[in-house]
Amino acid sequence: MAQTVDLLITHASQLLTMEDDLGLIEDGALAIQNGKVVETGSSADLEKRYTGQETIDATGKTITPGLIDCHTHLLFAGSREDEFLSRLKGADYLSILQQGGGILNTVEQLRQATPDDLIQHGLKWLNEFLAHGVTCVEIKSGYGLDYANEKKMLEAISALSGYTDQHLVSTFLGAHAFPKEMKEQPEKQMDELVNHMLPAFRHLAEHCDLFLEKNAFSLDQAEVILERAQSFGYGLKMHTNQLSQLGGIALAKKYQLLSVDHLDTISEQEIETLAETDVVAVLLPGASFFLKESAWAPARQLIDKQIPVALATDFNPGSSPCPNLHFIMNLAVHQLGMLPHEVWQAVTITAAKALGKEDIAGSLATGKRADFVLWSMPNHLYPFYHFGKNFVEKVWINGRFAHRH
Ligand SMILES: [Zn+2]
Repeated sequence: MAQTVDLLITHASQLLTMEDDLGLIEDGALAIQNGKVVETGSSADLEKRYTGQETIDATGKTITPGLIDCHTHLLFAGSREDEFLSRLKGADYLSILQQGGGILNTVEQLRQATPDDLIQHGLKWLNEFLAHGVTCVEIKSGYGLDYANEKKMLEAISALSGYTDQHLVSTFLGAHAFPKEMKEQPEKQMDELVNHMLPAFRHLAEHCDLFLEKNAFSLDQAEVILERAQSFGYGLKMHTNQLSQLGGIALAKKYQLLSVDHLDTISEQEIETLAETDVVAVLLPGASFFLKESAWAPARQLIDKQIPVALATDFNPGSSPCPNLHFIMNLAVHQLGMLPHEVWQAVTITAAKALGKEDIAGSLATGKRADFVLWSMPNHLYPFYHFGKNFVEKVWINGRFAHRH
């Protein structure tokens, strides 16, 4: 006697469960009940054992887990295409920053924005992400930089969860830059961050991130922030080795971070250090592309050392204004030398791991959230081969058809 489930999808030309590499099943089927994956397998097998309240024939199509974007600054205000034009004419990122442009321009605009402005902005871009099959999005604060405005951002992220079907993961990035009113008083800003914001925002943010870089936070300041954030129970993440080597990898090992993000300038010795840890390397080739960096993250060396590699958009108004994870997946193949199966891992199961969510998301394993995408393509190589086309047909989150809002 067949077991009845809420949804039974059969005859996918390829079903990628992402259990054990791609977990590829030809003529695959997927049974869903109560928002969770019951079982995956061959259509012949599952059709014998399950009856769906709803059934879908996926002949000629591919099913994958929902994509996970594990590094975004999605909640910004305004846009910086004028600065982009200056850069095209030869100005560099750090000189723009020193002239009060760059991130401080976005901070200025964010401080003017109302909570409702932020929610409208967030929803617009989350819908765009959903259209590309992204079912879980990490969103960082970090454009408020003072207590009230960082709180405003984190509260907006929290409110956004009520407006979208997507799973949102909130990260406190108060240590993104020093705001201009604190430029001459870095100790005072550090006190604000670790003694006021960190303890107060724990209920609003799951993770804490910081920007270790020249003109941002030093190695000593980074350690103070990580140590304090860890004591409050935040998951720890760090932007490091984007433009320079300041010792971030050793620090990541010491504090057992969830992820180190960027790594465009990571040294061979630091790769050895990273290989001794469980820390995920989150690569952000959209920023390398947009900033016309000469250095790209050494994905092949990281993968050869069995370091888990995730990919993300780094969606932000300054260095990666790209809301399309598929474009990033293509950059990974063409500029980082990653193979398609490694790229699929990097935007599903390894991205989940970078967020500490690998037990509930990132693959279509029994008992995990039924977040998945039906692609109008016969196999998983298509988005790399017919690059530039969005093959996403339908998206389910928690076993329910996901709607744009
Ligand atoms: Zn970032």
